[in-house]
Amino acid sequence: MRKIIIAGNWKMNKTQIEAIEFVNQLKRAIADIQEVDIVVCPPFTALADVKDVLLESNIGLGAQNLFWEDSGAYTGEVSAPMLKSLDVQYVIIGHSERRQYFQETDATVNKRLKSALKHGLIPIVCIGETLAEREAGKTFVVIKTQCLGGLQGISSEEMKKIILAYEPVWAIGTGKTATPQQAQEVHAFIRRQLQEMFDEETAAEVRIQYGGSVKPDNTNDLMSQPDIDGALVGGASLKADSFVDIIKNSCGVKT
Ligand code: PEP
Repeated sequence: MRKIIIAGNWKMNKTQIEAIEFVNQLKRAIADIQEVDIVVCPPFTALADVKDVLLESNIGLGAQNLFWEDSGAYTGEVSAPMLKSLDVQYVIIGHSERRQYFQETDATVNKRLKSALKHGLIPIVCIGETLAEREAGKTFVVIKTQCLGGLQGISSEEMKKIILAYEPVWAIGTGKTATPQQAQEVHAFIRRQLQEMFDEETAAEVRIQYGGSVKPDNTNDLMSQPDIDGALVGGASLKADSFVDIIKNSCGVKT
């Protein structure tokens, strides 16, 4: 059975002090939860301090992006070996905000993905359609294109290490959540796509998170869907109370 994974994407929020305070609070509130995987993705500037607070806890550490070269003249970028040196385990790749504001494409997603895998980071690869694409009936074409481009040249063994996050762009930070049925429909499509690109065993193993205005009160319905294996949470991951409730509401859903 696929273990649910709840990850908090803090985006460009929280100073060092705020980050430390937050993870201390989170750690205390969910200390005995083993049933779901829990991850926080602070900004680069807080990774080192958050790492220290999370030592020997049940909370994993993730980054929000990485560059594909290991080192060199790439001002402002951060590489996989740098993240590994801070004991970062996960890295978000291809978030829609990176695609929208920083010209991220499926080709650059693919390069970042290969670097993450090469260095033993667990990638969380984001895919999802815009509102215009959904309204034009192009959701499945967009998802298929993103899977084919972003996952190009990846082996089945590598695919099993990757987490996908289906994040309809129209639901991110808007308060509009996809209904559990809308999300499940796309998650099932993604799994069929993985079956075509890889094989049945791989498709059955890959965890696919849903992201887009996940809150404590919609968590249970979303996580109950057969092909939804967790959540990538933005806004509601910034407050300890709501993130803790999302985590708690994900427990016991699949058993
Ligand atoms: C996200 O940024 O990945 C996200 C899903 O944001 P929100 O939960 O705020 O919609």
